Amino acid sequence: VKQAKASGRPEVYEPKEASLARRRFSIETELRRALERNQLSLNYQPLVDLKTGEVSGFEALARWKHPDRGEISPTEFIPVAEESGLILHLGRWAMDSAATTLAGWDAEAGQRLPFNVAVNLSAIQVARDDITAMVGGALRSSGLTGDRLTLELTESAIVQDPRRATRVFDALKALDARVAMDDFGTGYSSLAYLQRLPIDVLKIDRSFVSGMMIDPDSVSIVRAVLSLAEALGMSTTAEGVESRELATTLAALGCVSGQGFFFARPLAMADALPFWRSRLRSAERRAY
Ligand code: C2E
Ligand code: MG
Ligand code: MG
Ligand code: MG
Repeated sequence: VKQAKASGRPEVYEPKEASLARRRFSIETELRRALERNQLSLNYQPLVDLKTGEVSGFEALARWKHPDRGEISPTEFIPVAEESGLILHLGRWAMDSAATTLAGWDAEAGQRLPFNVAVNLSAIQVARDDITAMVGGALRSSGLTGDRLTLELTESAIVQDPRRATRVFDALKALDARVAMDDFGTGYSSLAYLQRLPIDVLKIDRSFVSGMMIDPDSVSIVRAVLSLAEALGMSTTAEGVESRELATTLAALGCVSGQGFFFARPLAMADALPFWRSRLRSAERRAY
């Protein structure tokens, strides 16, 4: 500490940086162990049709309950997984687990349920893994058809290697899976990609949606994205719908579906089907 002072560096940063690096390193070690021991789980957040109020899908979101540290957020462990390469393992696990779960719900409900499940794909997976084999394998072992799955990709998956991304998108379409552009509006992709790539859904980033109530510019951006999507024949999902007011406004603007704490937080696996059923009943009376 004295040396740090003598060298003129702000001494508070050194221990803080060191402890952050330590936490990162131990997260990597423990995440590897947690994956081996199957200690991660998926939560399922409903996507709600803004016209009918019914559930049109669920997004699978990774959860890690650490035995000592408690819940660790994916915003912390996903970047660590990406830097360490563990995301390839985690991503395969998430794909298989989500497909198995949806097939299980179909079996439990005794029908082919009228919604699909979305799984997040990291740009690292797109760059390094064999996505066709991964998704194809999950479909075969679960018995699901490809249209029951949506793969959520961010713009970074395209920008890094557009040619590879094009092949991956085409391969996903060949499997009949749906492709969603996640966090749309926050990345650096060009509009040309939207025109060229087979994208089924634009997910409007939460930052624009939550800005809508206070910032007229956010409303303009959302409106523009919605008309762009419509012109290109894509569906739309608004992220971060936290109030009824937002849901109503988005519905009036023509947004197809909404996802956010107003409808439901990400749910434990066992709570998803009951939620779907409860929305069927309420849909008879009102949209939401
Ligand atoms: P994302 O794919 O954009 O997922 C949506 C995130 O927004 C989730 O955070 C969800 O809990 C949160 N959210 C949903 N509705 C609301 C709302 O109304 N208000 C607010 N404030 N937040 C809302 P979560 O679960 O913490 O995940 C964060 C990110 O971690 C995800 O963002 C995704 O990029 C990544 N992630 C999570 N699971 C996986 C996974 O299995 N694979 C990969 N590659 N990434 C994952
Ligand atoms: Mg997502
Ligand atoms: Mg998102
Ligand atoms: Mg996001």
